[in-house]
Amino acid sequence: MEYVTLSNGVKMPMLGYGVYQVTKEECGRCVLDALKAGYRSIDTAQSYFNEEEVGSAIQKSGVAREDIFLTTKVWIEHYGYEEAKQSVMESMEKLKTGYLDLCLLHQPFADYYGAWRALEELYEAGKIRAIGISNFYPDRMVDLASFARIRPMVNQVETHPYNQQVTAKEYMDKYGVQIEAWAPFGEGRGGLFEDETLKAIGAKYGKTTAQVMLRWHIERGVVVIPKTTHVERMKENFDVFSFSLSDEDMRAIAGLDKKESSFFSHYDPAMVEWFVRMVEERKHSSDSSKEKKNW
Ligand code: NAP
Repeated sequence: MEYVTLSNGVKMPMLGYGVYQVTKEECGRCVLDALKAGYRSIDTAQSYFNEEEVGSAIQKSGVAREDIFLTTKVWIEHYGYEEAKQSVMESMEKLKTGYLDLCLLHQPFADYYGAWRALEELYEAGKIRAIGISNFYPDRMVDLASFARIRPMVNQVETHPYNQQVTAKEYMDKYGVQIEAWAPFGEGRGGLFEDETLKAIGAKYGKTTAQVMLRWHIERGVVVIPKTTHVERMKENFDVFSFSLSDEDMRAIAGLDKKESSFFSHYDPAMVEWFVRMVEERKHSSDSSKEKKNW
């Protein structure tokens, strides 16, 4: 495993396992398989509705808690100081842990300053080893990094060969914020797993396009948390430390950048309205229907 040292000195694995869109039913088995395959970093979120299953699987695995780097994220409806603090305590209970390795604010909307103050306090109290943000584009990232008391240590944003986040990464580097890729394969959108450039590079090393993408991220200094429910793919995605890409390979992959999201833009006001509606609906619906709107 390769590691990065965050701005506060905490060591974070460059490769982890993400559980977004992993159902409650499958999550326990998947986390156990991932730990067995060698993963020691798990990325979940309040809005994935599988924190309990992640916590139970970690307990069941027999892997010592201190050997695992555990991340969760606070969802928008829990923003504001009091609610964010309460929600992180609940997350820890669900995850069956006395501390988190990393806790992120999931989206740059609503009262994220209040929520950030809660994370700052929990960090200082030793409940969270590192605090960060997610989906904060450069404007929001510079804002928080400049005006908050404690600067975020990580920013998790959509990053893959078709949306490389070159400018965003430059700003993160400038502010000492570690970039972490969500959707390191772009969920395969736009035919990314079948991309001819990636295939040709993979053929040279006897590696798959998935392995080439992960290696490329790691060599750029981007932390990755690929998701799969298939144990063979978990092993494949973990096997990326025995080869390296040449400068020519890195240049060829740099040339694939479309410089736009394969999903949606957080700058789009219609998208912000969509988030607002989701928060409103969740507030007004029962717990069981909340879980149907998995994000
Ligand atoms: P991803 O990791 O880019 O792609 C996952 C998809 O790729 C799944 O459909 C998976 O299929 C497939 N896949 C995985 N390994 C493969 C392989 N070796 N060969 C072929 N196909 C493969 O997308 P993601 O799940 O959206 O992102 C990863 C993690 O980032 C999430 O789990 C979550 O922890 C985090 N995330 C965060 C945010 C945020 O807003 N902060 C948003 C999205 C995701 P199978 O499962 O069928 O194998």
